[in-house]
Amino acid sequence: KKAKTSGFPYLFYTQKMTEAMAHKLSLENQLRQALDNEEFVLHYQPKVNLASGKLTSAEALIRWNDPRTGLVPPARFIPILEETGLINDVGRWALHKAIDDYLRWHNAGLAAVRVAVNVSPLQLRDRGFSGQILQAIDIHEQAPSGLELEITESLIMADVKHSIASLQTIRAMGISIAIDDFGTGFSSLSYLSKLPVDTLKIDRSFVIEMTESSEGLLLVSTIINLAHSLKLKVVAEGVETEEQASMLRRLHCDEMQGYLFSKPVPGEIFETRFLSPLLLK
Ligand code: C2E
Ligand code: MG
Ligand code: MG
Ligand code: MG
Repeated sequence: KKAKTSGFPYLFYTQKMTEAMAHKLSLENQLRQALDNEEFVLHYQPKVNLASGKLTSAEALIRWNDPRTGLVPPARFIPILEETGLINDVGRWALHKAIDDYLRWHNAGLAAVRVAVNVSPLQLRDRGFSGQILQAIDIHEQAPSGLELEITESLIMADVKHSIASLQTIRAMGISIAIDDFGTGFSSLSYLSKLPVDTLKIDRSFVIEMTESSEGLLLVSTIINLAHSLKLKVVAEGVETEEQASMLRRLHCDEMQGYLFSKPVPGEIFETRFLSPLLLK
């Protein structure tokens, strides 16, 4: 076979490319169908206040419940949604679903629990995004004071001017903004002070480094102090050990999120495990 194609390398590549494209196309079609068939689900991971241990918020993390293979993690399909533009529809679905859940909790008397939704670069770049949010709020006829959007640092930095404008519009609606994966996207300090955001989420990689080396510790403590001097809240991602939690507490980090407290769980489990006990108090 190799001898056959060696004189015409492009034939070989064409075949490989056709296979890759066919695979992507079928995945794309499956994802389109998944949206139609309502196969996407939101799992929620609690964030807790480090000082009080109280539940503050739930981060919505999307999964694809593929009827043939079970739950598919976002890393496996978000890139394809982004490449194909399907992210706008799926992102809109996630926004509506999260607001829906949030309002149900809110109306049950759990106004203090906020909801955070992850937003893709492409959604924020889409000119219609703020209109989409307005529509979501409008349908639900309620002010989204407990709604938070998480946007990765690298995205914001890719187009600072436009990002600032979009973030300002969104924040004017009463929605909070968190910079996700903070520390991985090379923010310059001068931009950081100009960004209309409320929260920094320290990336898990720094939380891991924090207990491994004195440089790691210094880095996290610097991020926390920086955030506080800019009047921002700090959340640590991916907290897995008591050692990490107590260190973050000593450094006055505001909130934590991670497997130590809980993995992301389906909405119903989040309600029975974390919300119902609050109602009984
Ligand atoms: P992210 O927003 O930074 O979410 C944190 C990820 O870390 C989640 O992975 C979460 O399950 C995982 N995680 C949380 N605590 C721990 C821990 O203690 N240890 C470890 N090892 N991992 C932990 P997940 O759910 O697979 O999501 C991955 C990424 O996919 C998210 O990163 C986010 O960028 C993206 N994503 C998730 N849902 C959506 C969505 O609805 N829309 C968009 N655009 N992106 C989403
Ligand atoms: Mg996030
Ligand atoms: Mg994150
Ligand atoms: Mg992260």
